[in-house]
Amino acid sequence: MAAVTDTPAIPSDYRPVLDHGFVRLDAAMADDLSVVNAARVSFARRKEELEDSDAGLIRFLMRERHGTPFEHNSFRFHVRCPIFVAREWFRHRIGSFNEFSMRYAKATDDFYVPAAEDVRTQVGKPGAYTFETVEPELAESTRETLESVYRSAYEAYEQLVEAGIAREIARCVLPVGAYTEFFWTVNARALMNFVSLRAAETAQREIRRYADAVESFLAEKMPVTHAAFVANDRTAP
Ligand SMILES: Cc1cc2nc3c(=O)[nH]c(=O)nc-3n(C[C@H](O)[C@H](O)[C@H](O)COP(=O)(O)OP(=O)(O)OC[C@H]3O[C@@H](n4cnc5c(N)ncnc54)[C@H](O)[C@@H]3O)c2cc1C
Repeated sequence: MAAVTDTPAIPSDYRPVLDHGFVRLDAAMADDLSVVNAARVSFARRKEELEDSDAGLIRFLMRERHGTPFEHNSFRFHVRCPIFVAREWFRHRIGSFNEFSMRYAKATDDFYVPAAEDVRTQVGKPGAYTFETVEPELAESTRETLESVYRSAYEAYEQLVEAGIAREIARCVLPVGAYTEFFWTVNARALMNFVSLRAAETAQREIRRYADAVESFLAEKMPVTHAAFVANDRTAP
């Protein structure tokens, strides 16, 4: 008899991120073998299985920035994140996006409220900022301010929609902390470029958490490629 459990296991293709977000790998056609076969087609050679020696070829391609063999694969992610994270994400042009429409569907009432330890102050000069935690009282009052603004913004949104205003106009009252959802389809080369920029210390903390999540899927599906990327100082080919 199957064991009965109250809490269903979190699917392995799903990573929770921030307070209401996630990254889910909706589908993938991705493996390390495609990299070596794409490189060896130049010599009319093809393998059915990855061999130990192929790791050296993958490291060589990564180091010498022979990038195209890393393009013959595909990751389709389903992402839920605050709008300000999506804005940064959509700057990455090599990939395809489709986003939830606030013209056609009602906006969610989920908004990003940072955990107390993520409420931070900015110190230093442009280009060399560091971010430091604030006193617990300031962290708490910041969270309360955000919650109160979100509440009143969403109330205004609902009132406008109920009064017959089109959602495409009513949404103007919603802040960039509101959650959105999108599909992102990308190959490993562009994914590594995204990770190299957005999982870096210089990137905003919130998108870094998402970059860490997508990187974990890369590591799972293409472990040799991922190891070579890390060994190459996380520079995309
Ligand atoms: C820490 C950080 C701070 C940032 N701050 C700002 C900011 O203040 N203001 C702002 O506007 N943006 C900012 N950005 C966004 C940044 O300028 C890029 O738009 C974003 O990181 C996408 O990078 P990308 O062009 O390499 O990625 P993609 O668009 O995915 O492109 C991948 C690669 O394809 C090639 N490529 C793509 N399109 C072209 C093209 N048209 N011509 C030539 N080569 C191309 C390039 O080699 C590129 O690296 C910031 C990014 C980071 C990581």
